[in-house]
Amino acid sequence: MDKKSFDIIVIGGGHAGIEAASAAARMGCSVALVTMDKNALGRMSCNPAIGGTAKGHLVREIDALGGIMGQIADKTGIQFRMLNKSKGPAVWSPRCQSDRKLYSEEAVRIIASTKNISIVESSVTDLLFENSTAVGIKTADGDDIFSKAVILSSGTFMNAIMHTGLSATTGGRFGEKSSTGITESLEKIGFTSARLKTGTPPRLMKSSVNFNLLEEQPGDENPQPFSHFTNLSKFPALPQVSCHITSTDSEVHKILKKGFELSPMFTGLIKGAGPRYCPSIEDKIVRFADKDKHQLFLEPEGLSSDEVYVNGFSTSLPAEIQMEALKKIKGLEEVEMIRPGYAVEYDFFPPHQVDSTLETKLVKGLYFAGQVNGTSGYEEAAAQGLMAGINAALKIQNKPEFVLKRSEAYIGVLIDDLVTKSTDEPYRMFTSRAEHRLLLRQDNADRRLIRFAKEFGLVDKSFAEDVDKREITIQSGINLCRKLKLHARDANEFLKSAGSSEIESTETIANLCRRPELKLADLLNLNGYDKTDTVRSLINNEKAVQQIEIDLKYEGYLKRQQEMIDKLERYEETKIPLTLNYSTLKALSTEGREKLERYKPRSIAQASRISGITPSDISILLVYLKS
Ligand SMILES: Cc1cc2nc3c(=O)[nH]c(=O)nc-3n(C[C@H](O)[C@H](O)[C@H](O)COP(=O)(O)OP(=O)(O)OC[C@H]3O[C@@H](n4cnc5c(N)ncnc54)[C@H](O)[C@@H]3O)c2cc1C
Repeated sequence: MDKKSFDIIVIGGGHAGIEAASAAARMGCSVALVTMDKNALGRMSCNPAIGGTAKGHLVREIDALGGIMGQIADKTGIQFRMLNKSKGPAVWSPRCQSDRKLYSEEAVRIIASTKNISIVESSVTDLLFENSTAVGIKTADGDDIFSKAVILSSGTFMNAIMHTGLSATTGGRFGEKSSTGITESLEKIGFTSARLKTGTPPRLMKSSVNFNLLEEQPGDENPQPFSHFTNLSKFPALPQVSCHITSTDSEVHKILKKGFELSPMFTGLIKGAGPRYCPSIEDKIVRFADKDKHQLFLEPEGLSSDEVYVNGFSTSLPAEIQMEALKKIKGLEEVEMIRPGYAVEYDFFPPHQVDSTLETKLVKGLYFAGQVNGTSGYEEAAAQGLMAGINAALKIQNKPEFVLKRSEAYIGVLIDDLVTKSTDEPYRMFTSRAEHRLLLRQDNADRRLIRFAKEFGLVDKSFAEDVDKREITIQSGINLCRKLKLHARDANEFLKSAGSSEIESTETIANLCRRPELKLADLLNLNGYDKTDTVRSLINNEKAVQQIEIDLKYEGYLKRQQEMIDKLERYEETKIPLTLNYSTLKALSTEGREKLERYKPRSIAQASRISGITPSDISILLVYLKS
């Protein structure tokens, strides 16, 4: 093959780009990963952390599909916590504090050692098309590189401007240039772009913080890895550290307000919408004016780093105001600032322009993934990168496309939301966005998804076979628990000690397990029934026992969710041709016709999720499709 010709070109080595390149290469495609800095692969632009509420679910799903984010996080995590443990299992979310430098180094190591990936260090300035098909790129070094597909994952860099106070400089991230040419190239052929903004807090010198005054937040005593493939005997790989908690107060707010007239947000210098759910401190002071304090988490940037990240204090106010306010915060009286916070404003492409495979509707073979689709967050970007990489590879190999349903994965919810609702503000994932969240738990990601990774060759077959075997154990374990009975004389003492009501004669383990205060492992360990080999091997299979317990405890809810999914399935399966000319359907409402034309839904279910589409529009579509 010509040196300058590849199956796939990936533009940008951020969280989306490395997943796309890694998946496509392991599926057998030759990949050129063209990125501005080959040592900045997977660089964390903002907080040194992976996962968190709903984002942790995404990482577990990426991992079950054979992506690399979970493995990198496990190798470089310096504090692991399972969030929301006091709530139901649907919202438990793993999160880790990462060593920022090691995270990127591990990403570089993995990508550099992946067969089929050539890393090209350059800036892409133009895209090449032939007959509405992407055929390659131009770089700032004057090179043309050709390919059968192009994945654009250039993040927050396109025409990016960084703001601190009234000073604005071009750049996609501190110390890194912005990228020019791509937006213009795409707009020329009919794409629409818009502006968004995001921000980051100041970084503090660790040695100048008085941690003795602050509340310590350690990690979990028994930390759990993200990746299904991490060897537990080598986990955690690094020493674990604590974060610390402090807060702002009314005096701090007063100082920050002094800077509002020099704020790029309030003076209109920044035009793009910021992340609603990750607001800057100045935004919080205005939007939640009744609150006189906001919690801040001081997070270490790494084991050997002297930098501390102030989670909750993202700001683009002038540096001197940031400094003055910080010094009034408990524990930060003597603080030294390494770098002030800043905001970055960048171009994105509203995502109604991509299809559910993340291929653009306008140009064949061109995929958008990550922040360029209007999302915010490493995990959202990685999930899209993986899906774009898989789909680009499948298309080149003439294989059927891969689209996850909303009932199969958070990744399905994410992409479906993007393509049916588009977005005019940075989109981040929440558990509340997933209507079937009890089925889409972080703990069962492998049960839901590993079969796909096996099909695409993205996981070792033996892992997938282990999951299949476990599934058989789970199903037979559930049946066993329905049959095994405990007698009152063997159970009551234990039930009393667990604060559970006693039984009169006998009760099945399945029924007892439904009681919220009881754990299946404890019930299985009680005396009073025959400990056959099957029971013994079940007791020793911790992962299976955990799944059986959740399946039994939430059986009723899970059944109802499944019934709902089955009911909706008919509409998911009723496909609408992408070529349908909606202007011929005169009976559609005007808004309905405009929206259908804009979003080009793939199915009746997807059409029904577009805002402004009425039940009557759906009936008209159904009648048309039937005829
Ligand atoms: C200052 C700042 C603050 C942020 N704050 C938050 C936050 O609070 N919460 C949150 O969830 N997310 C935040 N983010 C966003 C987070 O960084 C992104 O969601 C995530 O990194 C997106 O991943 P990505 O792969 O799409 O792009 P990125 O991680 O941005 O990676 C893009 C890559 O593309 C490369 N590239 C760009 N243009 C070109 C080109 N023309 N040619 C070659 N290579 C190119 C870049 O060098 C980079 O490697 C912030 C980002 C920044 C910059």
